Formats: sequence, structure tokens, C-alpha cells
Amino acid sequence: MGLLVQKFGGTSVGTVERIHAVASRCANARAAGHDVVVIVSAMAGETNRLLALGQQMASRPDPRELDALAATGEQVTAALLALALSGKGLRARSFLGHQVKILTDSAFSKARIKAVEADRIYRALADGAVAVVAGFQGVDDAGNITTLGRGGSDTSAVAIAAAIGAEVCEIYTDVEGVFTADPGICPSARKVDKISYEEMLELASLGAKVLQIRSVEVAMKYAVPVHVRSSFSDATGTLVTAEDRDLESVVVSGVTYDRNAAKITLANVPDTPGTAARIFEALADSSISVDMIIQNIATDGHTDLTFTISKADAAHSQEIVTRLAEDIGATGVRLDLDVVKVSIVGLGMRSHAGIAARMFRILATEGINIQAISTSEIKVSCLVASKYTELAVRALHEAFGLGKPTEES
Ligand code: ASP
Ligand code: MG
Repeated sequence: MGLLVQKFGGTSVGTVERIHAVASRCANARAAGHDVVVIVSAMAGETNRLLALGQQMASRPDPRELDALAATGEQVTAALLALALSGKGLRARSFLGHQVKILTDSAFSKARIKAVEADRIYRALADGAVAVVAGFQGVDDAGNITTLGRGGSDTSAVAIAAAIGAEVCEIYTDVEGVFTADPGICPSARKVDKISYEEMLELASLGAKVLQIRSVEVAMKYAVPVHVRSSFSDATGTLVTAEDRDLESVVVSGVTYDRNAAKITLANVPDTPGTAARIFEALADSSISVDMIIQNIATDGHTDLTFTISKADAAHSQEIVTRLAEDIGATGVRLDLDVVKVSIVGLGMRSHAGIAARMFRILATEGINIQAISTSEIKVSCLVASKYTELAVRALHEAFGLGKPTEES
């Protein structure tokens, strides 16, 4: 018996039948004696549909109104679920972000939660009701409706779980949990039983899409245990939690890839102080974030400079850098979209030497050339030609022993 937060994603509430199934699951949790707070996403596809409608109204729609529009998707599912619960004889009350209230800053379409005032949730629970909260939305100081960025219901759920001190925040989704690799391209991928916040953050930022990154940051900050699990089965999923000795013994816990990378190389950049500053300041001024950067040591006063950005920023970055190139005296700009960033992640890298070298050797054995490298304490990433995506992921997964039931490697 305890306080439980359950979050259901778009596919889990995608049809009337599924909303009924969600209601049954909440009813079971109530019957087991738990106090239950449910956070819902919009029905699958609904947020896309709403935003597309908005785009048809103006060439540059007002972000405030887009948020007001997008937030309606979750209002629908919250009310539907509350109705389904009362249909089953349970007490239930739905709440929007501003009713709770979930206070955010005013950055429309990517607002950050500043505070959760949970009084109304507590009152609903005290009345014996299931509190159903619309995810993805909040309200700013001026009373405007805001949204938290795509996938933001995860963050709503974790923030509410933190605010009310829930025992666990269950994230129900259409996969069984977090996998050692994308099962779509790596058939031997396994569900991970337990993973640390740090690893999950790396995996999320590297493109594994199970949880919104922000939600993992909030979970880590407030030490909320997050249980990612399937809404289509009763199987346990993956527990995302603080690190412990168990977890540290695993050297590599996952292999991931990100196709959303693009590479730009500037040739013959004069090796003078301030050149890199000018290039990356110009990109920063256009809010372009740069991921990997390589510059070699100059021998004849010139050097090549390579960096990666997201594919969406590729054309714009190329424009900026081409304009600068002449000024700086560089002789050419090359853009390559045919790249993928393949990464290994694991807490154990902190205490094991030679993991990066092993990764390079595995790729070399497959004849895969590495174009750029970046590392963090618990991650090594290699940029390779995109045609090698499957091969690289499978080879690394296999060589680091992730496909086997015991994950010692
Ligand atoms: N409905 C929103 C989206 O599609 C938020 C969410 O599902 O978490 O991004
Ligand atoms: Mg999601």
C-alpha cells in the first residue's frame, strides 16, 4: 500500500478500448490499496494532428496559441479516463495543468516546470478518488497555458511523483522497457532490469526514445524511482534508479545510435587564436548546438576542423560556415549527411580501462572507419558512415556480451 504515480503514453490511450484497459489497471492498483495518481498523454497521433492544424492557420503561428491548442489533446484523455474509471464504480477526478497547478516558465512549446502545487491532488486522494492529470502541460506566472516539449508527459509524471513523494513513478508505454540496443536492428537485444539515472540520461540524449530527457533529469534530481513498463502486459519492465554496486559491475549496459547527426568539415583553417571562437560563436548565435568537434594540430599553419550538428541544423550551419570560411581564409566546406553516431554507455567505464580501445578494435574488425570520436565518463561515441549502422550496433552488442543473459563482460 502506498502512493503510486502511473503515466500512460499515447499508444496506451490510443483507442476507447485501451482507455478502458488503462482504467482496469488503475482499478487493480486501487483494489491493492494504493493511492493512485494517473498522468495521461494525448491519444496517439493527436498532438501531431493538432499542431498540423495550427500550422494551417498562419505561416508563423503564435507559440502561445499553439500551446493552448496542443494542450487540448491531454484534456480529452484525462476526462475520458476519469469517465471510464467512474464507469467501473471508482471515484475519479481529472485535472488540467493549471488546475493542479503545475507552474512553469513561459517558454512556450518547451516550458520547464518550476513548481508543482499538489493540494488538489491530495484532496482528491483524501476523497478516495483517483487523480487523473493531463500530462505535457502547465501554466506560467501570467496564467498562460504552456507545454513541456514533445514527450513531455513523462516529465509531468516524474515531477508530480517527486512533489507528492510517490513510491514509484510507473511509465506505461508500448515497449517492455529499456533495451540493451534497438531490437528493431539488433535481434539479440535484451530488456534491462535496472539502469542508473546517469546511463539513462546518456541513452536518452543519444537517441533512445523511451523517456523524455528532462524526465530523467528530474527523476535523478529528486531520486524518484522510475519503472518503465509495457501497458500491454503485467511483466516488470526496467527500473531507472540511483546507481549501486550491482550496476557498476556492468561495463557496458547499452549500445545506441543516432541517425540525426550531420558532419561539416572546414579545410585549411588558419591556425590562429580566435578562429574556432569565431566559427562556433557564429553557430551559437543562431542557436545551433554542436556535438562532436575535432581539430588536429597544424603542421604548416593550417588545420582541418570537423564538427557535427543535428541534421535539421545542417543546411543552416553550412551557410554560416561557408560565409565565414572566406573571411577566415579556409579553403572549403564539406557537408556529410550520411553519418550515424554509434555509442556505448555504461557506468563501469569509470573503473575499467581500455573500453574505448576495445570499441575501436571491434569496429576496425568489421572494416568500419571511424570519422570522429567523443567520450564522457560513461560513454564513448564514434561517428561512422550511416550504411554501417546495423553492423556496428550488432558487432558492439555482441562483443561486449550484451546479448547473453549474464551481462558480465
Ligand atoms: N502528447 C505529447 C506529445 O505527443 C506529450 C506526450 O505524449 O508525452 O509529444
Ligand atoms: Mg513518450
